[in-house]
Amino acid sequence: MRSVQPGARGPPWEDAVAWDFSTEPQFQEQLDWVDEFCRSEVEPLDLVFPGAAYSRDPKARALADPLKQQVKDRGLWALFLDSELGGPGFGQLKLALLNEILGRYRSAPVIFGTAAPDTGNMEMLAAYGTEDQKRRWLYPLMNQEIFSAFSMTEPQGGSDPSLFQTHATRDGDEWVISGEKWFTSAGARADIIFVMCTNGMFVVPRQTPGVEIGEYPALHNHIRYNDVRVPLDHLLGPEDGAKVLAQRRLGGGRIHHAMRTVAQVRLAFDIMCERVLSRESHGKVIAEHQMVQEAIADSYAEINMLRLLVLWTAWTIDNSSTRQARTQIAACKYTCAKVLREVSYRALHIMGSLGTTNLTPLQAMWVSAPTMAIADGVDEVHKVTVARNVLKGYQPHPGVWPSEYIPAKREQARKKYASLLAADPELAAWADRASRSAMPWT
Ligand SMILES: Cc1cc2nc3c(=O)[nH]c(=O)nc-3n(C[C@H](O)[C@H](O)[C@H](O)COP(=O)(O)OP(=O)(O)OC[C@H]3O[C@@H](n4cnc5c(N)ncnc54)[C@H](O)[C@@H]3O)c2cc1C
Repeated sequence: MRSVQPGARGPPWEDAVAWDFSTEPQFQEQLDWVDEFCRSEVEPLDLVFPGAAYSRDPKARALADPLKQQVKDRGLWALFLDSELGGPGFGQLKLALLNEILGRYRSAPVIFGTAAPDTGNMEMLAAYGTEDQKRRWLYPLMNQEIFSAFSMTEPQGGSDPSLFQTHATRDGDEWVISGEKWFTSAGARADIIFVMCTNGMFVVPRQTPGVEIGEYPALHNHIRYNDVRVPLDHLLGPEDGAKVLAQRRLGGGRIHHAMRTVAQVRLAFDIMCERVLSRESHGKVIAEHQMVQEAIADSYAEINMLRLLVLWTAWTIDNSSTRQARTQIAACKYTCAKVLREVSYRALHIMGSLGTTNLTPLQAMWVSAPTMAIADGVDEVHKVTVARNVLKGYQPHPGVWPSEYIPAKREQARKKYASLLAADPELAAWADRASRSAMPWT
């Protein structure tokens, strides 16, 4: 193993010989359709009937369902699921390109059948469910006949799963679940909840006696499971397999969030660029002030760095596996929170007073940046993962000096030319002079 091997836990560098940043024309046509569809159908729905796409109200459904049908007719429904899991099998890279559009519009993910938290739960069901479990829950979730939630975090701690206490006890032909969960997104409106217990992952219908949903927080629910009884076949995957299932679920979810964040920061960037060209201050358009140019230039670079990281990660998942891409996924997780924070703040600031209101999407975007750094695991934990995994590709160098200590390397290199230097004193003197001038600090 070389002692310096950047990105050692990613795909081997040797494999990455073919670089192509173009989108195949057939899929680009689909993306163009999605772009137009979102502008002309999804955005107006969001503006006039916010929440209609998620609603169970028949009148709201009558507005949203025809849009979902159009997506299905285009073969773009539930793109996140690979073919072996029952989806269209387009892969993560194409999903990333799609999410770069969908992430701009509040209800687009649900209109395209790719909305969290259902997507991650469906991935778990597709990968670990029995045929009967898939028939009962996966296909209805895919068709949005039912909705789901994921109950993992507990009030006493979220980052450290060893602190979780919710447990299932077997009693005859039932499991009895007791414990308390916190921040279960959309728990109150879910039909089924995936409950992570210390000894397994369980599917709990929300209406089961003993499921007690607290009043606060309103959207991310505090739920008590008071001796909740479910049949034995509500255990998903193996007994004691909850951690593996949760990792599988969260890995996919994180990269999807990152893909949609690219859409968000591009929107912030578009708003900022339009504004700086439209407004004047101190005798010139704002765009001509150098500090504004710096904000544009930094944002441009950061957005593209994030985008390339996300696309590379999606490519890695397609070409190997989510597990293989776990270091990259973790890097996407904290990078998207950082870029969202930086770019949305710059855009908000450049909008002046208007930026501080909720009359543009910027304020909500900026407020969501801290959330992004916590949801799906706090940034610190992901940074630890990246550092640990990356460092596995390195080894300590013996002695006091690092392997790149130039005098030692030069001494080593001189051995290669030893006979030449010995035979030609003039050349040896030239080499000495040249080496000294190349090392001005000596
Ligand atoms: C919008 C949103 C939606 C969510 N949806 C769900 C959901 O659907 N289901 C669900 O189960 N949970 C959900 N969560 C909860 C989320 O998973 C937890 O908030 C997260 O895992 C952190 O747990 P915590 O809030 O208990 O923070 P803690 O674990 O108490 O961490 C608090 C702080 O301590 C520090 N810290 C913790 N660990 C480390 C470490 N190892 N190294 C350095 N610093 C550290 C960090 O600064 C961290 O921010 C959601 C959270 C948000 C914000």
